[in-house]
Amino acid sequence: MTQLIDGSGRKINYLRISVTDKCNFRCLYCMPEEGLQWLPKSEILSYEEIAEIVRQLQPLGVTRLRITGGEPLIRPNLDRLISQLKVIPGVEDISLSTNGVHLPKLAQSLADAGLNRVNLSADSLRADRIAAISRRSLGFDPIVAAMAAERAGLSPVKINVVVMRGINDDEILDFARLTLDHPWHVRFIELMPVGEMRDVTWDHVVPTDELLDRVSSIGTLTPVSGPARGNGPAKYFSFAGAAGSVGVITPMTHTYCDTCNKVRLTADGRLRTCLFGDHELDLRTPLRAGEPVAHIVEAGLLEKPAEHHLLQMQVGGLRALSQIGG
Ligand code: SAM
Ligand code: SF4
Repeated sequence: MTQLIDGSGRKINYLRISVTDKCNFRCLYCMPEEGLQWLPKSEILSYEEIAEIVRQLQPLGVTRLRITGGEPLIRPNLDRLISQLKVIPGVEDISLSTNGVHLPKLAQSLADAGLNRVNLSADSLRADRIAAISRRSLGFDPIVAAMAAERAGLSPVKINVVVMRGINDDEILDFARLTLDHPWHVRFIELMPVGEMRDVTWDHVVPTDELLDRVSSIGTLTPVSGPARGNGPAKYFSFAGAAGSVGVITPMTHTYCDTCNKVRLTADGRLRTCLFGDHELDLRTPLRAGEPVAHIVEAGLLEKPAEHHLLQMQVGGLRALSQIGG
């Protein structure tokens, strides 16, 4: 089998698929309160078009998929996309990144359609603070959402926390303690200076080394291999006898570009070879003209940047993660 290999020799087997650029939250590190210039509906790939792209890329070794956005659960009938992806031979793993608002309602139907697992974003366990960070009061309760995912058999459940100094870093220990009794993997993510950054700054970044030091006040953390079926750059630890684990994702203080195995498909059908930088390939135009796209991806991957340069960048100017399928 031919395998997608990028210009730095990395094997690409993981595709993140954004199904919408819209969101029902306005997280202060991701979207301005007034929202963004949304894509016109005609420019958004249909579920059939997304499935066709995956069908063409799977023979090149793309076997792991993540559905993301924007907020994927606000796009109607997402279970229809999941079932179309599930039947593509060779697709081994379908996961979802969500803010969790609609998860209690949809977890079971998504699992029934073939979704394997879920990453839930939750930056606080307190209702008033969730509303302040997401600038919306939608009644999101991270524990209820994680339990709904667990009940539906979506496993492993990962909870992603973007840590911001002075905003939610006083909840680090509360989040870490969840792993003592629940088989959940709580992952702390370093804040990245992307999007508009009107309300958060470099001063809000909590370096992971400091974070682990603070979490260690609960008990000794032992490095573990982490949940099965992980694709990504997280490093995992656990407390003795804990049901789950604590993970850290360190885009700022320790880069992991040398093991990058992923590319992103934007909601409007562009393949982004790196989260950062501007390299995008238009797949929608050839797809809608009935032409194959796999060879465009193969050639384009030779241009995938070897690493990102976030640390050298000034704040601002980069597209928000919601626009490129974070
Ligand atoms: N709406 C879904 C969600 O929130 O999980 C999926 C899309 S969201 C862009 C994907 C992930 O990117 C979330 O876990 C979010 O916290 C993270 N994210 C967005 N902007 C970020 C930033 N500036 N720094 C670190 N993580 C960020
Ligand atoms: Fe929406 Fe996710 Fe961005 Fe928050 S991080 S605004 S939930 S897309």
